[in-house]
Amino acid sequence: MAWFKRQDNEIENSSPEKRVRTEGLWVKCEGCDQYIFKADLDNNQQVCPKCGQHHKIDARCRVANLLEPGYELVDLELKSTDPLNFYDVKSYKSRLAKAQQATGLNDAIVNAVGRLGTHDVVLSVMEYAFIGGSMGSVVGETIARAVDRSLESRRPLIIISASGGARMMEGIASLMQLAKISSGLAQLDDAGVPYISVLTDPTTGGVTASFAMLGDLNIAEPGALIGFAGPRVIEQTIRQKLPEGFQRSEFLLEHGMLDAVVPRQELKPYIDRALSFMTAAT
Ligand SMILES: [Zn+2]
Repeated sequence: MAWFKRQDNEIENSSPEKRVRTEGLWVKCEGCDQYIFKADLDNNQQVCPKCGQHHKIDARCRVANLLEPGYELVDLELKSTDPLNFYDVKSYKSRLAKAQQATGLNDAIVNAVGRLGTHDVVLSVMEYAFIGGSMGSVVGETIARAVDRSLESRRPLIIISASGGARMMEGIASLMQLAKISSGLAQLDDAGVPYISVLTDPTTGGVTASFAMLGDLNIAEPGALIGFAGPRVIEQTIRQKLPEGFQRSEFLLEHGMLDAVVPRQELKPYIDRALSFMTAAT
């Protein structure tokens, strides 16, 4: 209890001027525990300049970092209808409203069409800040529309995942998205249009179990948590201690589950080169 009291006193004693001046200017890095100037993080795509820790980045910044100016955001109009009228400690409707207000998005996904380096592409980026990037019917349908756009235009598809998995507040409707997107991707594969999956921290549950692992190339950012069930559940089920670094990008690369681990600053040139290679024969 002593800590709380001390904290209260500190807040009371610090002058308002001091607090205003420093508020929001510095952020503590999760990787090295050092305070980083926020502008330095913003200028470095949210990667810590001191230790290389990849912090979460919002979906629209990702689009801006990957595509050339002049790209277009599309398919933003869909909204969940809350088909189960779901309520846990709060109503799903109120969770949606709060997330919409906080992110300025209707759901946890942004589709864009534009040019990445030398290629016209369709890009679909998940937004983790929207109910943990969970996949309900709107995320599923929006990604399915990105797949359709790729299929119609023959532009390569890139999906950037950041997700806790299927959205339980939509029950079976969210699980059905796995099959819908996977069947669309199979059509894309038949048509010979490339699909690159980028897995970022975290990519788990039904997203890993479907489209995130179905790329012609599956690449991940460094240190990302990637898995289906969480480590604690697995430990309890198999009654074994899990190895160090289990479910991190580097571990998955070493065990053949990923094709590459690519730092965020190198993502754009890497995808550009990969697409040149994949489309060279067509
Ligand atoms: Zn750091």
